[in-house]
Amino acid sequence: MSAKSKTLLADYHIHSRYSPDSQSEVEDIIETAREKGINHIIITDHYELADEHANIIDIDSYRSEMEKYSLPVGVELGWDGLKELKVNTKKFDYVLLSHHYVEEPITQESYKNYLLRLLDIMRRFDEYHTLAHLDFPRRYHRNKEPFSVELYDIISEIMKILIKNGKMLEVNTAAIEIYGEPNPSTELLKLYKSLGGRNITIGSDAHSLEQIGRGIERGIEILKELGYNYILVFDAEWREVRI
Ligand SMILES: [Zn+2]
Ligand SMILES: [Zn+2]
Repeated sequence: MSAKSKTLLADYHIHSRYSPDSQSEVEDIIETAREKGINHIIITDHYELADEHANIIDIDSYRSEMEKYSLPVGVELGWDGLKELKVNTKKFDYVLLSHHYVEEPITQESYKNYLLRLLDIMRRFDEYHTLAHLDFPRRYHRNKEPFSVELYDIISEIMKILIKNGKMLEVNTAAIEIYGEPNPSTELLKLYKSLGGRNITIGSDAHSLEQIGRGIERGIEILKELGYNYILVFDAEWREVRI
């Protein structure tokens, strides 16, 4: 299959050397994406106050680097909901909201606490476009246990906020190679659809050049199987693209 006939379309979650956990040069990211047939990318480096993702980008130099390559200026804005968040989100074209704090040991109880913190954040903070990796803690569970149906009420509240406020839900495909499902899981993507959710972006969460586009084709297949027909891509503005 040639690169052109692949269904790879977009990767809206990529880290560059502006994140502490990636070495990828912006130029190499663009080149690698092109080689892999991915025609829409947004680099979303960490802006986070604490924990292992801690990183405060110099926004102006980051902006000028992205502008040099005519890329939208993306960010993965990580917030624990506690520390004071002083960032001018207007300086970014694309804000991917993330919550990374997960309590140990990782159980359904810590999943629940994660969701409650996330819900609280989303009730207080609206300066984002997309919610990243909704069931993130599952990546770190010993058996990769899915979120229990008992948590679906809280998850529905989170999804309803996204839908009501015109936000997007990210399908993060990094976990597909680990346990066969994206974040959020297939069941959670069904739930989102049943609530009327339709705005979806897709991203690999690549922290290296090899990881760019990982799982995207499978993620799109999963979306189609669930009856989703579109994902959102960003040109001058957001538009739906048939998958
Ligand atoms: Zn993240
Ligand atoms: Zn990330």
